[in-house]
Amino acid sequence: MPVSTGTTIAAGPKRAPAGTEPARLALPVVAEAPEEFDGPSYTARRKIYPQGVHGTFRKIKWSLLFMTLGVYYLLPFIRWDRGPNAPDQAVLVDLPGRRFYFFFIEIWPQEVYYITGLLILAAMTLFLMNAVAGRVWCGYLCPQTVWTDLFLTIERWIEGDRREHMLRDRQPWTMERLARAGLKHLLWLGVAWWTGGAWVLYFADAPTLVKDLATFQAPLVAYAWIGILTFTTYVLAGHMREQVCLYMCPWPRIQAALTDEDALNVTYRYDRGEPRGSLKKSEALHARGLPTGDCIDCLQCVHVCPTGVDIRNGPDLGCIQCGLCIDACDAVMAKVGRPARLIAYDTDLNIKRRQAGEPAGFRIVRPRTALYAAIIAVAGGIMLYALATRQIEGISIIHDRNPMFVRLSDGALRNAYTIRIVNKRLASREFSLGISGLPGGIVDFVGLPPHADGRLAIEVGPDQTREVRVLVTDHGSAAPSSRPITFHLTDVATGDHAQAIDHFFGP
Ligand code: SF4
Ligand code: SF4
Repeated sequence: MPVSTGTTIAAGPKRAPAGTEPARLALPVVAEAPEEFDGPSYTARRKIYPQGVHGTFRKIKWSLLFMTLGVYYLLPFIRWDRGPNAPDQAVLVDLPGRRFYFFFIEIWPQEVYYITGLLILAAMTLFLMNAVAGRVWCGYLCPQTVWTDLFLTIERWIEGDRREHMLRDRQPWTMERLARAGLKHLLWLGVAWWTGGAWVLYFADAPTLVKDLATFQAPLVAYAWIGILTFTTYVLAGHMREQVCLYMCPWPRIQAALTDEDALNVTYRYDRGEPRGSLKKSEALHARGLPTGDCIDCLQCVHVCPTGVDIRNGPDLGCIQCGLCIDACDAVMAKVGRPARLIAYDTDLNIKRRQAGEPAGFRIVRPRTALYAAIIAVAGGIMLYALATRQIEGISIIHDRNPMFVRLSDGALRNAYTIRIVNKRLASREFSLGISGLPGGIVDFVGLPPHADGRLAIEVGPDQTREVRVLVTDHGSAAPSSRPITFHLTDVATGDHAQAIDHFFGP
């Protein structure tokens, strides 16, 4: 998507011949992007006073705000019964136990590839959203957008809407202004503190940690993290706001490189809006049968914009595609009796089509959306398969480095190994161990006598690993000096099986 520094609507657009309908702009000319942009890379911040607005997109934003914040704040309190030997918190990052719990899924440290798979899925979903409807993530779901929206709502509630707040800011400091500012910052800090507080609840049993925090018995690190996140939330959502999107976040640049002319973006339909002019002027022109656009230059779309963008200047890196300017303009259009969606989710291609007098349309299925959807389906399928066939026992082996082997007095060769057995069940299990690939080879646990019935078995506690030293002795004189061997781990009760390959070394 080109940015505002690269695309501008040229002045003096051509006018359509007068007709019985209000005449509109026929073919606005889009100037070519300048070869070089030598403007400043940073401009001093101009305080933005976004005006409150009502409409479809505002309702969607409210719904998503309540949903995302509700999930974030309440999720740690949801319980999930995993049995007597596991925590009952539905979503928990158990750092001491080195586990990640997500409802029925339990991820062990050696299974971080699930996290990689999730990251691939998240990236592809973001790319797909971007290819279909531009910066949906930025406008509706990004934490920076959601918390800034919440902070702006608090600000409007205390300081008044745009006009009132601007007036108040121009007045000298009074007790009343001080009290309002104090209350606003207090509420902001309250929200920021609650945000940091909710974050640490994902790392311990939430109800217990809440109690410990309230009675000052929680670990120091919990208070430290709450402090850090309170500070960052307060600064980013309360003070920096759109500056984060403009200067800190890489996603606007990435998505600008990923989008195409078919992607839906919040667009000012200049083919319909220009030439703009005040309502009075536009009605006078209309009465004389002269061409006039639908934009009455009321600036409502600019006043409601949380990033201070004038969407009529064309695509802009600062536009987070929140759709609030659509609501504002729709309300204006309704008041002046003109059709809605002068600003709308539209494509660059449709603008060109309308300029050429062709019908507009939207192609959702195209190579890039099909490719992203296919990658999501394949990655999702692989992850589901991996989860469905996930082994609940495991074995890993490290061969002794020094010595690699020893020859016994009777001429037999002996190798030593350290074996780690993993039991992912929430109950104790007894495993037997055997080898293949070394006929006549004998396996012994170091320090663990065999069972009374002669079986070589080892017990591993619920959701635990156990490390054992194992000796393998080869009495077969005809064996080659070195060969691969396979260790077989079998659950004595269920017969579930895991195996690992290593080497048996000789001279
Ligand atoms: S709100 Fe609509 S009519 Fe008013 S300036 Fe913006 S585009 Fe023009
Ligand atoms: S220009 Fe419109 S869509 Fe873009 S950020 Fe501003 S209000 Fe949201």
